Formats: sequence, structure tokens, C-alpha cells
Amino acid sequence: MSKAIGVDLGGTKTIVVLIDEYGRILKKKKYATPQTKREILEMLVKGIKEVKGKEKVVGIGLGLAGFLDSERGIMRFSPNIPAINNTNFKAFLKKHFKEKLVFENDANAFALAEYAAGYKKQYKNVVGITLGTGIGGGIIVDGMLLKGKGCAAELGHMIVDHSSGKRCDCGNIGCFEELADGKALLRTAHKLGLNLQNNIELAELAKRGNRKAIRAIKEIAEYLAIGLVNIINIFDPDAIVIGGGLANIDLLLNEAKRRLKKYRKVRADTKILKAKLGDNAPAIGAALLALEDFLRMRKTPNIAVDAIIEYYEGKEFKGIVLVERKFEPKGWALPGGLVEYNETLEKAVQREALEETGLRIKAIKQFRAYSDPKRDARGHTISVVFTAKATGNLNAGSDAASAKVFDPKKLPKKLCFDHKRIISDWLKKRERPQR
Ligand SMILES: [Zn+2]
Repeated sequence: MSKAIGVDLGGTKTIVVLIDEYGRILKKKKYATPQTKREILEMLVKGIKEVKGKEKVVGIGLGLAGFLDSERGIMRFSPNIPAINNTNFKAFLKKHFKEKLVFENDANAFALAEYAAGYKKQYKNVVGITLGTGIGGGIIVDGMLLKGKGCAAELGHMIVDHSSGKRCDCGNIGCFEELADGKALLRTAHKLGLNLQNNIELAELAKRGNRKAIRAIKEIAEYLAIGLVNIINIFDPDAIVIGGGLANIDLLLNEAKRRLKKYRKVRADTKILKAKLGDNAPAIGAALLALEDFLRMRKTPNIAVDAIIEYYEGKEFKGIVLVERKFEPKGWALPGGLVEYNETLEKAVQREALEETGLRIKAIKQFRAYSDPKRDARGHTISVVFTAKATGNLNAGSDAASAKVFDPKKLPKKLCFDHKRIISDWLKKRERPQR
């Protein structure tokens, strides 16, 4: 089974996971994100190497927070991790890893992982948002990640209240994340006179009934509701999945849902759901992208059918039918060709025989399969060879220049592919006394 590495480079911590094709975590490590660009890059190399160990992986995916050029692997602008601005991650990591590298915005990776982990079966259109330090977004439309020119779904930078005067790191005023992220919540609590270190303490206080804590959460919930209704009005998704640290504050989500009703008069059926994968989602999503990329590119052998057609005139065996190929490689060969998608082998061999010889073959029986990777110079092709019987007029079809009956012991000198061997195997079997 194929495996991949996923990395979620966060502002305070970095998660590295090894996953299998089902998105299951086989190994995970957590690191404190250092301050400088050089230290961050060194940590990434160390982390990936530690988690990878001796495993063979098909790719390495990185989830990065900010405006990312995902094709080139360059972070253009990261409001929450300024140290990585203008960093060419791809160029650096390529020196250390030979595996395929893929890059994606961390919130896109989050949305993809949550979607793949459970919502895929029920929904086609899902929006994921991460509520933490900053607000990230990822949009799945018809099962595909919406990419835009590379930076789609920066939902945190929707302007939800210009009159607030709150300047965002992106340069705008009144961005969603400036008003509804973890920093905004803590700032609101401080403004109300609460002396707190973090939002976990705030959530605890609110649970115990502290009125100021509850008020702070409700203020943020109002902005959250405005952001959600904008998303619903634009995308009309089946569901919005909310993750990140603030998603654990039940009061915040419930209050936002309640307030959403007053803004959402028409579209009332979008589900607001809590993320399932916790902290691991962006790293899993990044790894899934690396896997997906690999699976899409994975080569499989072609499947072909060939027919040894015993040709009869009345009851008299006349020989076997060969066709002269019109296309490269030119020469004589058994009638046959590639199996089409949604076609059985039997149907394929009947179709090919009819197309190339004009014969309706009968008494079709599977003979043997030939799978030598070198048997067809155009690419690895496995052929399932059939024996069959036919009578009637021979008509060379579209792919064949001519079709003729040959005495199997007086074949043309050269046959294409391994067809000489196939016919010789068949003759040996045919002449062997029946047991
Ligand atoms: Zn902004």
C-alpha cells in the first residue's frame, strides 16, 4: 500500500504525519515551530526524516499558512508566520528529498482531509474553515478543491465590518479573521476587563457562568455568523465544517448558529458541523494531496485480448486467421486489441475479431495470458489470448491492411509482438494427446 508524508507548518507548532492510502495515521510527531526561516527549514527536514524513517513514501505534502504559490512551492505572504514570507520551500526541500513534493494552503488541506475523512459520502459541496490564530478556508466543489489561480478560499480576508476600523495584516480593514479569530476573542475578553492568558481559560470561565466571558464569546459569535452567512450566500454548500482551536468552544458555535438564523432567511439547510480530525487535519490533507498526485500519475499495464481463430470451411479446418497490421508495428499478427473501459474480455475479443477480420467468432475459450513487460515495445501490455472458431467471409477491417488464413505450420517468417510464441504454445497444446 502506498504511503505519504504530510506536514502542517503552524505558527506555534508543526505536525508531521505518515499516512496510508486510507488517510490513517501510521506515525506522528509534533515540533515547536522555531522563529527564524533557517531554523524552520532545518526543523522541516529533521521532522520529515524522523517520521519517514526507512519507509518508502510516494510523496511529501506541505500545508502552509498564507498566500501560497502552490505550483511553485513559494510562500508569497504569510500573515501569521512572517519569517517564511517569500520562501521557496520547493527549491530547499528538493535538495533533501527525492520524493514528489506538493504544497497547499493549510486550510485547503484541512478542508480536504475533513471531507475525505467522512463527509465525502454524504456531501458534494463542503466549505471548511479553521478558527484559530487567523481564519483559514478551503472550498470543495463537486468533490474537488477549488484552487482559483492558486490562492482561492482566503475566507479569513472577507471584509465583514469595514466600520470596525480594525486593520488586518493583509492590508484591508475589517477582515473576518481580524474580528472573529482567537486573537480577536482574547482581545475582546481583555477589553471587558478579564485578565486571561488564552482562550482555553476563557472557555472555562464561560462554562462556569462568568458573564464577561460569555459576553466576549457572544460578541465574536456575531461576527462568526456574519462570515458564515456570506459563505452560504456565495457557495450554498451542503455543509460548513469548522475546525481549529475555537471550534472546541461549544458556546461559540451554538451562539453563531443561533445568530445565523436571523441573517439566513432563504437558505436554511446548510449544515454547520464540527471538524472530526482535530489538530491532525491539515497534515493529513497535505499527505492526501501527495498521495492523490501519485495515484493519478500511477502507471498500470494495458490490457489487451488476442484471438487464435480456427478457420473452417464447412467442417474442414483450414488454418488460423492472421491480420496484416496497417499501423506500427507493421507485419502479421493475431487479431486483437486493447480492452475498452466497461467491456468484458469476451466482448472485447469478439469486437476486435469482427473489426479486423469481419468474422463472428464462436466457441470462445480463454487460452493463456501473456504478460512479459517487453512483449510490446509500445508499453507494458498484458494480453489475454482466446481460442475461437469461425467460418464465412474474411474482410480486413479498419486497423488491418489484410486478413488471411494460414496453415499454423506455415506461418509468415516474422510475426509481431510475441505472437509466434503464442501460436507455438497453442500448437503444442493442440497436438498433445488429450488426457
Ligand atoms: Zn485581511
